[in-house]
Amino acid sequence: MLAVRPADFYHCRMDILSAPLIDPFARAIDYLRVSVTDRCDFRCVYCMSENMTFLPKADLLTLEELDRLCSTFVGMGVKKLRITGGEPLVRKGILTFFQAMSRHLASGALQELTLTTNGSQLRKYAADLAAVGVKRINVSLDTLDAAKFAQITRWGRLDQVLDGIQAAKDAGLRVKINAVALKGFNEDELFTLTDWCADQGHDLTFIEVMPMGDLGNEDRLDQYWSLKDLRSTIAARHRLTDLTVRTGGPARYVRVEETGQKIGFITPLTHNFCESCNRVRLTCTGELYMCLGQEDMADLRAPLRASPDDAALQAAIRAAIARKPKGHDFDYSRQTVAGKVTRHMSHTGG
Ligand code: SAM
Ligand code: SF4
Repeated sequence: MLAVRPADFYHCRMDILSAPLIDPFARAIDYLRVSVTDRCDFRCVYCMSENMTFLPKADLLTLEELDRLCSTFVGMGVKKLRITGGEPLVRKGILTFFQAMSRHLASGALQELTLTTNGSQLRKYAADLAAVGVKRINVSLDTLDAAKFAQITRWGRLDQVLDGIQAAKDAGLRVKINAVALKGFNEDELFTLTDWCADQGHDLTFIEVMPMGDLGNEDRLDQYWSLKDLRSTIAARHRLTDLTVRTGGPARYVRVEETGQKIGFITPLTHNFCESCNRVRLTCTGELYMCLGQEDMADLRAPLRASPDDAALQAAIRAAIARKPKGHDFDYSRQTVAGKVTRHMSHTGG
């Protein structure tokens, strides 16, 4: 019989604990999106209802708990961390969290620390974010028309966001604008948006509206503007070259030959991008969603709070990754909406 020495057992256990996260479809999971709050200073119509009920603050993970969770993921091979929400920059003390996460950049364990924001607080935070090692940020902006901006965000002010974007640029942050393509809303601004981004040196990505949240009688079908149509409209004016570059994410990119500008398309509905999905999403209460478009999730708060030792937490993370589904079921074909999920985007983090 083979004798197993305690040292062998220890090394074997350490190997298992530090083995990369691979899901059942052989996708390496190295990207974590973390929603640090469900709250927001805007109420975008496709994201939140006007009278949102937010989680009691006591239900939220503390910043220390978020640190421990994220650090555990980094220890298990996560290389990219995107902080989102709700609006991440309205969470009290958020800069301390970014500062804490920057130690993983310094150690080389983490390759990128970034965030998705509505831009309203960037004037206050841009320089500090750049100082802790954030290099690129995504800012959501669907229109450059102040009245339409107020209509779509309900509570937002365009000038404040544009000023925030300028502050980010001044701080040396690279800005990517994310615009949700909305039929009858920003169709007429397609070239205003693309030209503005080209002038300002911002990358631009369009996103198809997804059937998420409390849809009531709406199903977003009336808002749905296929990016295939949007792309054809751009192609009628510009020469577009498909780029093979993939960021591991859902966006496909083209280069506008006349300006060199790069435009991305996130098309969960016309083009399923699940086969290359490398990400999972953590909510501010410690739920891990393995797919944005499915209801299954794993509770990581219980193992996190059960013991100061990370073994149970790591085991729960591995068990969750082993359940990552092949893909989502969003489908607008045949003029009905299939695969809806009732969660708001602000809960899972977009
Ligand atoms: N508050 C930040 C922001 O707006 O960038 C971060 C969170 S927000 C939920 C992240 C992204 O989700 C935004 O770009 C927003 O436009 C997008 N989003 C929200 N609801 C959506 C929906 N139903 N379909 C497509 N994108 C959506
Ligand atoms: Fe807030 Fe972002 Fe949702 Fe708009 S999309 S309501 S800014 S979380």
